[in-house]
Amino acid sequence: MAELSPVLKQATPVLAARGEGVHLFDEQDRRYLDFTAGIGVTSTGHCHPRVVEAAQRQVGTLIHGQYTTVMHRPLLELTDRLGEVLPSGLDRVFYSNSGSEAVEAAVRLARQATGRQNVIACQGGFHGRTMGAGALTSSGTKVRAGIGPMMPGVVFTPFPEAYRHGWSEAEAVRFALAEFDRLLVTVSAPVDTAAVIVEPVLGEGGYIPAPPEFLTGLRERADRHGILLIADEVQTGVGRTGTFWGHERAGITPDILITAKGLASGFPLSAIAAPEELMGRAWPGSQGGTYGGNAVAAAAALATLDVVRDEGLVDNAAEQGSRLREGLRKVAAEHPVIGDVRGLGVMVGNEFTTPEGTPDTETAARAHRAAAERGLLLLTCGPHGNVVRMIPPLIVTAEQVDEAVGLWADAVAEVAPR
Ligand code: PMP
Repeated sequence: MAELSPVLKQATPVLAARGEGVHLFDEQDRRYLDFTAGIGVTSTGHCHPRVVEAAQRQVGTLIHGQYTTVMHRPLLELTDRLGEVLPSGLDRVFYSNSGSEAVEAAVRLARQATGRQNVIACQGGFHGRTMGAGALTSSGTKVRAGIGPMMPGVVFTPFPEAYRHGWSEAEAVRFALAEFDRLLVTVSAPVDTAAVIVEPVLGEGGYIPAPPEFLTGLRERADRHGILLIADEVQTGVGRTGTFWGHERAGITPDILITAKGLASGFPLSAIAAPEELMGRAWPGSQGGTYGGNAVAAAAALATLDVVRDEGLVDNAAEQGSRLREGLRKVAAEHPVIGDVRGLGVMVGNEFTTPEGTPDTETAARAHRAAAERGLLLLTCGPHGNVVRMIPPLIVTAEQVDEAVGLWADAVAEVAPR
């Protein structure tokens, strides 16, 4: 029998047999509280009945109709429905299958629309693993090591990381924006700069919310220099951060918005949205792909958006996220190895730090494992892997949050007794 490639890394020992809501069950029918949600994908939980019903109905009607060749009803309806939740003005949508592909599409569009080459990305950002999206990624060296040269024309600017530097948020923003300004006069002149891409919450890089002043600062600079602002909402979109889009709390509108993950509850679907004025400058045939905008994925996305609205999941994400952070902060107060608990909505990180203030990757890994042994599935992130993150489905209840916090407290007490 063939074996799986050893370059694949499995974060938990679980062999999943089925999923239901916030829970996964393995082949022995052991129940796990799934605070990974397929890396932030199963927004409505595993196998939400309305998503299942919509997908099953579509499978029996039309599975695939490549939409640049033959349009189909699910995609038309989804596009209409997205119009209700997209920032006003972003009224043209292009679909693909994954976050990385959508990032590539955004870069293609930005270069074509501006006639400029460079893209500024944040240090610590994650935008995918394809050669273009990977070029924009610096959440760690794993995505790039031994693989380059990547796509040229990428310039990195600091993301405000207050905790890491021991700064206030205002100091971190001041530093990051000053460095951004310096880049525009030393490395990438505005006439060469097509776009700046930013995650409203730095995701794989350590679950660090972008302070609103950073996003407004980037918006101002982009406007001043004719640079496009791309919001990578692959992980933060569709209610995850307690607002429908992560950039909303800064009161800005990006020029290009990227969404994927939670959009279709687990079916592969991503999209970029931009104003007609920009999208119209893409050359016909320069964007596209065989599977993008698949009919079953589109039907599942439509059902997902309905469930998010009808079940009030954006507000639930905000409420349960606050409850989760509050509970986790109590655990951190008992265990100094957890130096910071932060996040927005149900996108929460616990940063493990040694008494000397350096990343404590080993204790984070042990806590992560101890939680899995207790039936709580989590992920790690950050350049050093020392941030244990929690990203449950948006349907998570107060009882499930409390259960998770209890399991986490036990796991941390086991690996880092006081
Ligand atoms: N952008 C962000 C912000 C992400 O978090 C991810 C995935 N973690 C991607 C892009 C890439 O998405 P995918 O894995 O679907 O290609």
